[in-house]
Amino acid sequence: MAKKISYSFEFFPPNTPEGIKNLADTHRQLSVFSPAFYSVTFGAGGHTRDGTLEAVLRIKEEGFNAVPHISGISSTKAEIKTLLDIYQQHDIKHLVTLRGDVPVGQIARGEFKYASELVSFVRQETKDYFHIDVAAYPEYHPEAASAQIDIKNFKKKVDAGANSAITQFFFNADAYFRFMDECLLADIDVPIIPGIMPIYNIKQLARFASNCGAEIPRWLRMKLEDYGDDLPSLRSFGVDVISELCETLIAWDVPSLHFYTINQAGIISRIIKNLESD
Ligand code: FAD
Repeated sequence: MAKKISYSFEFFPPNTPEGIKNLADTHRQLSVFSPAFYSVTFGAGGHTRDGTLEAVLRIKEEGFNAVPHISGISSTKAEIKTLLDIYQQHDIKHLVTLRGDVPVGQIARGEFKYASELVSFVRQETKDYFHIDVAAYPEYHPEAASAQIDIKNFKKKVDAGANSAITQFFFNADAYFRFMDECLLADIDVPIIPGIMPIYNIKQLARFASNCGAEIPRWLRMKLEDYGDDLPSLRSFGVDVISELCETLIAWDVPSLHFYTINQAGIISRIIKNLESD
């Protein structure tokens, strides 16, 4: 039996009645793993922004710990203040605080240039009310001027008041271990939770990886390509690869694992069952 650790699961806000029902089924299925929290991503458009709030409130109503993401790049201070007030009214005490990305074709109109500014604003407005998570990048952020500068910028978010961080996904555990060493050297001492991306299909994975700068190792890409349209075999192989990655991280004593669910429970359930049966 592997060491018992805690899990959290990330969803995106659904925008159809079927999507809402699917998300409810997904978080109910994942509840057997007693997650520390469910988080819901934040989109730059008004519709997805409202969707985050609605999804978070639905999760909370069912008695789960719901954590909204908020992003600054397309938000004004007044909008963020309103959101913070609403979350406080609903007794939500944990946020994932980001700069965010502006969707292609839209213009950033927000008042926060970097996530550190948003963290400072949340602290200024609400003191220690919220537990604040920020994003971390073991393979560095795609816009980073250099590895060293990216670590310095990460430290700015922690110094601004972040309590912990969740990483971008990665397949190479060494990248995470080296990043942790660099954080230690930079006096960054908050928990940094690995973000885990299950493998659902190669096209989607390649798109996510190219957008966020995560590397798909050549051996993994080539193996996945070999499966072609045989999704069941690709997913079984992916479950093995991700289970091994998680086992390596757990053996290293990570504080917990955060799964990017894409609003699906099946593959993640198989991975966690593997971890718990070892
Ligand atoms: P920052 O920490 O602000 O960093 C962005 C870039 O700016 C980096 O290259 C950094 O080195 C640089 N930088 C930072 N501070 C400075 C400074 N003072 N001067 C110069 N350069 C600086 N996106 C969404 O839109 N919605 C979500 O819900 C969402 N959830 C996410 C959850 C997790 C766990 C992760 C890892 C990412 C998530 N993202 C989300 C994606 C994220 O918004 C993007 O990666 C975005 O490009 C950067 O956000 P950040 O908060 O890391 O930005």
